[in-house]
Formats: sequence, C-alpha cells, structure tokens
Amino acid sequence: MNWISNYVRPKINSLFSRREVPENLWTKCPECGTMLFHRELAANLNVCTSCDHHMAISPRDRFTGLFDVGVFVEVKVPEPVVDPLHFRDQKKYPDRLKAAQKSTGEREAMLVVEGEVGRTPIVAVAQDFSFMAGSMGMYVGNAIIAAAQRAVATKRPLVLFSAAGGARMQEGILSLMQMPRTTVAVQMLKEAGLPYVVVLTHPTTGGVTASYAMLGDVQIAEPNALICFAGPRVIEQTIREKLPEGFQRAEYLLDHGMLDRVTHRKALREELVTILRMLMNQSPAVKGDLPPPGEILEAAEAKA
Ligand SMILES: [Zn+2]
Repeated sequence: MNWISNYVRPKINSLFSRREVPENLWTKCPECGTMLFHRELAANLNVCTSCDHHMAISPRDRFTGLFDVGVFVEVKVPEPVVDPLHFRDQKKYPDRLKAAQKSTGEREAMLVVEGEVGRTPIVAVAQDFSFMAGSMGMYVGNAIIAAAQRAVATKRPLVLFSAAGGARMQEGILSLMQMPRTTVAVQMLKEAGLPYVVVLTHPTTGGVTASYAMLGDVQIAEPNALICFAGPRVIEQTIREKLPEGFQRAEYLLDHGMLDRVTHRKALREELVTILRMLMNQSPAVKGDLPPPGEILEAAEAKA
C-alpha cells in the first residue's frame, strides 16, 4: 500500500465513474403526487404541470427564466466576518455553512444580480430557501444593502424575491440587526425615488417578513405561498383555536389587504415589466420584434 493505491487510484476512479446523467430524472409533486420529468418541470419554471403547485426554484434558475435571453451579471456582496460568536449546536456553524455551500453550489443564501427584463434595466435579489432555510444573517443584510446601493448608483428599480425561515439563529443578535439595516437600505431607494417591488415566495416567515419583505411599493406573492411572522402551528398552540382555511396563505392575505397581487410564476415576468415601466415612467414594453422598415414598405406596395 502506498499513496498511489490509497490516494491516486480512488481519485482517478471517481473522475471516470462520475455519472453524466443526474440521478433524479423524475420529481414527485408534493401536492398531487404526479411524477414530473425534470426537463418538463424546469421548462415550466418548477410549477407542477398537472396541479399548478409552485415548487421551490433556485435563485439562479429563477433569474435565468426572468432576464432577457437568460443573461444577468452578479453584483458583488461584501463578505461579513464568519462566525463571530463561535456558535455551536450539534454542529459548528462554519461546518453548517460549508455543507450548505456544497449542497447548493452557492456562496450564501442570497444572490444579487443586474440585467434587463423586457428591455427594462433592473437590479434583482433572490433568497435561496435551500441554503440554511434562506435564513437572514449578516451576508443577507450585506446583500440587500449592496443591491440597494447598486440600484441607486445605476438608477434602476429593485426587485426582491423572498423565501426564508427567518433570522439565522447561529448569528444571534447580529442576525436581528439585519432588520433595521435592511430597512435603512429600502429607505435609500425611496429617497432616490426608485421602485422597490417584493415578490413573496413560499415560505416567507419570521424576521424577514418583519423587515424588508413587507416594505415594497408593490407586494406580489406566488400562489399558495405561506407568508407570516409566527407560523400557523405556533399560533394554534398559543391561542388554542382552530385557524380558518388557508390562513396566512397568499390568497387569504390578498383578501385581507396584506398584498397587492397574487401572480402565477409564469405570468410574473410580464407583470413585473408592466409595473416597473409604469413606476419608472417608461413607455410600455415592445412585445416581439418589429420588421425592418423596408419590409413594411414592400408589404404596403404589394397591397396597393
Ligand atoms: Zn401537482
């Protein structure tokens, strides 16, 4: 036994045995149980083709579907100090972070980008629920501030997609401090006269609901998204009463005046373009490409 058989050979084997096709080609819809083919599901923006259930979508996939021809540029987010409290539960906090980075392939729970949607320049941020439940820590705070600063510097509107289990416990009081920090960042946009549109996705809870996710000029939600501060189970246990059907879901909140719109994921792009262009005093978006002037003349001559 030497380092060749112990180290080099397994490495080489693992390089060649890596499977080309992903293992899970099929996803089961948690709502109706239909088996969905991964390509079909991705083409439908992770919405069930049989019951319209909106499944989670990663920020990167969402932005690829949102921006014109799927092109966007990432905005750099200043790195915070990692684990200043030296927090440890069953696992050390840095180990949890590393595991989340490995499973999602992302640096942290929020992605900041800029690009054009329907030829409308915007800055966008999206929270990643698969990264430690999208929890709001110092990085998420920094991300929202970086996004707001970028929006002000380039005079673009900011669109935020929220999804979070709340504040990041591992950062203690430092995570709670992100609530006022992000609120000040939103205020910067208001002072610059720039629109801030929030799209609440399933689930948006806790300190995120209590700060930047509820401060939009227009509040949109995806169908059936759970949006709350304390969840229905906690409330039910506290007040010992049965809660009404659909409590704290997007449609219920729309009926009770907490939201402006509930929009299907596939209609969202068009709706955002319309709202942003109206708020930015821009002309309506051009739909499709007009033929070059020569062809119009030829067509007119042919008619005459
Ligand atoms: Zn379904």
